[in-house]
Amino acid sequence: ASYDVTTSPVELDGWHGVLVCFEDVTAREQAEQIRRDFVANVSHELKTPLTALLGFIETLKGPARDDAKARERFLNIMGREAERMNRLVRDLLSLSRVESEERMRPSERVDVVALVNSSVMTLRAMAAEANVALDVTGHNAPVFVLGDADQLVQVFTNLIENGIKYRGADGRVTVKITYSERELAFRGPGVRIDVIDRGEGFDPVHIPRLTERFYRVDDHRSREMGGTGLGLAIVKHIVTRHRGRFRIDSTPGEGSRFSVMLPVA
Ligand code: ADP
Repeated sequence: ASYDVTTSPVELDGWHGVLVCFEDVTAREQAEQIRRDFVANVSHELKTPLTALLGFIETLKGPARDDAKARERFLNIMGREAERMNRLVRDLLSLSRVESEERMRPSERVDVVALVNSSVMTLRAMAAEANVALDVTGHNAPVFVLGDADQLVQVFTNLIENGIKYRGADGRVTVKITYSERELAFRGPGVRIDVIDRGEGFDPVHIPRLTERFYRVDDHRSREMGGTGLGLAIVKHIVTRHRGRFRIDSTPGEGSRFSVMLPVA
């Protein structure tokens, strides 16, 4: 722990002494450290694609100027790097929004089952392109929660996209919806959405850190897949805002399950 110490002389009924105050500043220092790390991480994440872009611009101005083939190849890479920066900025803005809203409980009544189905619909094309069979099973009648529809769609989309990205040889991602009259976590009705893949999975030692910003199991692989490292941090904040629970299970080589539980309105 760290303390700020202040002393001031005191005089009381003829006694002279010194008043010493200890203020526990551990939490403040930790928050400050987290903020510094975050700024350093963001700068690094932005600098990498930016350095690549600047390098290619120089090459295009110089050696590759008259080489049509090289030019096309470089422009494609530049497009990918620019897209990466775009995704990063988009996710940073999302994260900052959900963080600032975390204490404000959403008040709109929304049908979770419809939101899951619409997230799946939007990702069908991506799944088909990746040769992944994407399906929804379980409860299929409307279930209402107090929620923010856009944010819940973002939760399901992030989890399903990850399932597709980190798929293994067996390209299958299943979204399972379970309604329960008495969900233990809420001592009342709840709805649980499991996003299950039979992909590469990971060692469970990583689980406690996966929702930290920029934490990745395999840094190189995640970047290659176009990941920003912010998806699960965003999910965690949105689920917290909805007074829900978020759970991760995984077995290396067998696959993973990401579960979101929400209290029913
Ligand atoms: P990223 O943009 O890197 O995918 P996320 O925050 O969404 O960032 O996920 C953090 C890390 O968790 C990923 O880099 C990856 O290592 C791991 N991960 C997430 N989803 C899965 C999954 N379905 N299967 C295996 N690993 C996963």
